Amino acid sequence: KRLVNGLTKTRDSIVAGIDSIFSGYSNIDDDFYEEIEEILVMGDIGINTTTKIIDHLKERVAEEHITDPAECKQLLIESIKKQMDVGDTAYEFENRKSVVLVIGVNGVGKTTSVGKLAGLLKDQGKKVVLAAADTFRAAAGEQLTEWAHRAGVDIIGGQNGADPASIVYDAVAAAKARNADVLICDTAGRLHNKKNLMEELHKIYRILEKEYPEAYLETLVVLDGTTGQNALQQARQFAEVANVTGIILTKLDGTAKGGIAVAIQSELDIPVKYIGVGESIHDLQKFDADQFVNALFH
Ligand code: GDP
Repeated sequence: KRLVNGLTKTRDSIVAGIDSIFSGYSNIDDDFYEEIEEILVMGDIGINTTTKIIDHLKERVAEEHITDPAECKQLLIESIKKQMDVGDTAYEFENRKSVVLVIGVNGVGKTTSVGKLAGLLKDQGKKVVLAAADTFRAAAGEQLTEWAHRAGVDIIGGQNGADPASIVYDAVAAAKARNADVLICDTAGRLHNKKNLMEELHKIYRILEKEYPEAYLETLVVLDGTTGQNALQQARQFAEVANVTGIILTKLDGTAKGGIAVAIQSELDIPVKYIGVGESIHDLQKFDADQFVNALFH
């Protein structure tokens, strides 16, 4: 229900258009496909992924000898799901000792997402420790400290000027001493300075490897869903410098561009693991591609 509410704008933009096509055409012809294509591209699914979806749809229509456009809707839904298939997207880090590194450029909702994720895991009965290792943005530490209080979890760091790697080092010691289930590290994301970012991340990876080898490592990139295709581009750039294992896609509550989730999974083969659908602590949801597509076409 919350998922469906959070996606209202995306659903309205895609589905209203699609439905009018399915009811407005009596034959399946080039115009019919072109109109569907246009709506998917407008819905930020992107041209590459849209082309794959339409090609697959055409194949299925031919295979099943379908002539009634109304019967295409289910096939279209299946084609989109197929494009989003990234295999097993199990939330492994939730079930073992783990470290979650969260990266993303300023303003995408990174700190908020770290806070919400801490709250979500805490609600699942996990012991969570936060590391405020985004020392680049001045207020990030204070802001994360507030989130830690809100979520009721411990936080390490938060003073300006400290070195991110040394904060992670301290946070690992704290996570071990307190027998934490999950250590979530809020780290920087200076895409305009890739070399620095890469060095900083590698330093952190080395510390984790050395000090906490038993922990399962998850690297999540936070992307602002309202930026559409730019978000895809950012994900691609982060994937060049880090071993990205998942995406948190934020601000889907205020945008019609939620189709970007389809493009991300199809083009980058990286699972969207959580979506942000509001500013409060409960506004982070696990993402399930099938459910998402069903909600869009509901
Ligand atoms: P950061 O610079 O990436 O750490 O970004 P912040 O976490 O400070 O978030 C930037 C702004 O986006 C804040 O005003 C947040 O409340 C807002 N925000 C974050 N996630 C969401 C979301 O899922 N939905 C909405 N509507 N706002 C969000």
